[in-house]
Amino acid sequence: MVRTQYPVCMTRRRWIADTWTKTTASLKGEQAVHLARVLRAQPGQIFDVVANGFLHRAEIISSSEQEVVFTLHEELEAESALPVHLLMAVFKFDHMEWGIEKATELGVARITPVIARRTEKHLAQAAAKRVDRWRRIAREASQQSRRTDVPQIDDPVALKAALAMASAERKLLLAETEQENSLRVALLGEAANVALAIGPEGGWTAEEMALFSEHGWKHVTLGPRILRAETAAIAGLALCAAML
Ligand code: SAM
Repeated sequence: MVRTQYPVCMTRRRWIADTWTKTTASLKGEQAVHLARVLRAQPGQIFDVVANGFLHRAEIISSSEQEVVFTLHEELEAESALPVHLLMAVFKFDHMEWGIEKATELGVARITPVIARRTEKHLAQAAAKRVDRWRRIAREASQQSRRTDVPQIDDPVALKAALAMASAERKLLLAETEQENSLRVALLGEAANVALAIGPEGGWTAEEMALFSEHGWKHVTLGPRILRAETAAIAGLALCAAML
C-alpha cells in the first residue's frame, strides 16, 4: 500500500515533467515560467509530478523561470488511460482542437488525425503544421484533468496508412448511415482495447467506408441524429469510458 507522509489533497496541482532522473524531475519552458512567475513557486513546496509515466509526490528544490527542479518522493497510485485509439478525420481546426481537448479529458490513449477524402483541401495542407499545437493541447488537458500520461497524437496520415496503424482488438467505425448496429452493443463483452473512427464534417465517402470494412471495421451508430464530428467523438468516448 502506498502511504503518503503529506496531507492528502484531492486538488493538489499536477505537473508533467519535461525531464527527469531516478530521483529528480524538471519543468522547463512555459511550465517553469508559469510555476515560478505566476504561482511564485518556492523550494519546499509540494506538488504531484508525473515523471517517466509515474506519478510522484514531489518537493521543489530550486525554482527559476528557466527550470523548476523537484526531488521525487514516494510514488502515488494512478489510473491508466482508456484503452481507446481514436482515428479522427481532420476537420475545422477550432472544432477539432476542442475535440482533442475533450477526448484527452475523457482518457483517450491515442489520436491519429486522418486526411479523409472530404477533409477540406486547405485543412489537409495545413494539418502537418498543427500537430505541435494539438500535442500541446493534449498535454495541457492531461494536466488539467489530472492524467498521469499524455495521449499519443500521431502525425496526420491518409486513411490507408491510418488503417494500417490501428491494431485494436475491436475496430468500430462511427457512421451516421448505419441504422442497426449500435456502439453500445458493439462494446458489450470483453475487449482489451478499441479503435473508434470519426469522419469529417461531410462524412466518410462510400469508398472509404468500404475500405474500413475490408480492414475488419464494424460500422456502428450513435443514434438517429447527425452529430458534429467532435460531438460524435465525445459521445463515443464517454460510452467507452462507461463500458470498458
Ligand atoms: N455526412 C453527414 C452529413 O453531412 O449529413 C455528416 C457527417 S458527421 C457531421 C461527421 C462524423 O460524425 C461522421 O462521419 C461520423 O463518424 C460521426 N457521426 C455523426 N453522427 C453520427 C451518428 N448518429 N452515429 C454515428 N456516427 C455519427
